[in-house]
Amino acid sequence: MNAIAFRKEYEEIAFTPRQLYRVWASRARLFIETYKSRALDRWFKILRPEALDEELLKLVHDEEYIEYVKELSRKGEGYLDYGDTPAYHGVYEKALLALGGTRLIVENIVSGKVKVGFNPQGGFHHAGIRRAAGFCVFNDVALAAGLLSKSGLKVAILDVDGHHGDGTQEILYERPILKVSTHMYAPGFFPGTGYVDELGSGRGYGYNVNIPLPPGVGDDTYIEVIEELIVPLLLWYKPDAVILQSGADSHLGDPLVGLALTTYSYKMLALKIASRISSVKGVIVLAGGGYAPEIAVKVWWAVLLTLVRAPGKVVEQFSTAKKPTKTPESLKKVVRDRINRLKKELVDIHGSIF
Ligand SMILES: [Zn+2]
Repeated sequence: MNAIAFRKEYEEIAFTPRQLYRVWASRARLFIETYKSRALDRWFKILRPEALDEELLKLVHDEEYIEYVKELSRKGEGYLDYGDTPAYHGVYEKALLALGGTRLIVENIVSGKVKVGFNPQGGFHHAGIRRAAGFCVFNDVALAAGLLSKSGLKVAILDVDGHHGDGTQEILYERPILKVSTHMYAPGFFPGTGYVDELGSGRGYGYNVNIPLPPGVGDDTYIEVIEELIVPLLLWYKPDAVILQSGADSHLGDPLVGLALTTYSYKMLALKIASRISSVKGVIVLAGGGYAPEIAVKVWWAVLLTLVRAPGKVVEQFSTAKKPTKTPESLKKVVRDRINRLKKELVDIHGSIF
């Protein structure tokens, strides 16, 4: 079975400032409306999540930070961070409900009931060990990795959000869990981390792979990243489970990020994962960013339907481009140099991968 974690309250959850609240919350509503109007229940069942047990937060977050969020949630004013993530009444409970969806999918993957699962209120990759950031209160990407690892599964994280998955990186930096993040990287662009030299530390050295992309990178270059780095890394690492933070803000037309991808890139990555799907126990897809709701919903459905190998005509209805977008020559070279540098460093650490 393939599943979506959803309950009505998911249409009212957002950890963004007020001006983005409707944009964020409407994504889950639009996603489910599409599910119903396009009869996608043939491919995915809906499972109803409960709030996450508080205890599980300690797998990824500092106890003091958890208490801090609880207290500010009671007070209901100010921010949990420097001004991106507001502390409104009940924010703690809403965060637990959002993370409950990720846990539900993980549990069902571990038990073998679900092969591909999605949480439209998941992918909060900026929350760190003791900090909120970038519209993220608690980090469900790291939580999913922690829960899957605890069940004895070897897990790989792919994060294709337009922003660097800095919180996930921070929480899992010393763990030998493969983490690959592709994101826009430019002076002054949030969160400012995610360069190629952040490779992990201790036992995690060589398991943290960042592919920083300059603004304007299109599908052609992204396909190179998939073929040259992501696929060989997956073939080498051989995960039992894959977590895909499928942030839709790398898409051309997202108002917050300046990359130029279309559903073509997302679909190609999903195809590569789908081709390995018989050797993994499951794929958990987490929504992540995406500030043009209609585009975000198309991206997620294109990814999900590709993963479950729906026929081309079913997937194509969510396509946003007839042709892959092109990257200017000068930027192509920048990315190629970064790919080559990463390859060299990773071979120095692990031996032959590529
Ligand atoms: Zn993002």
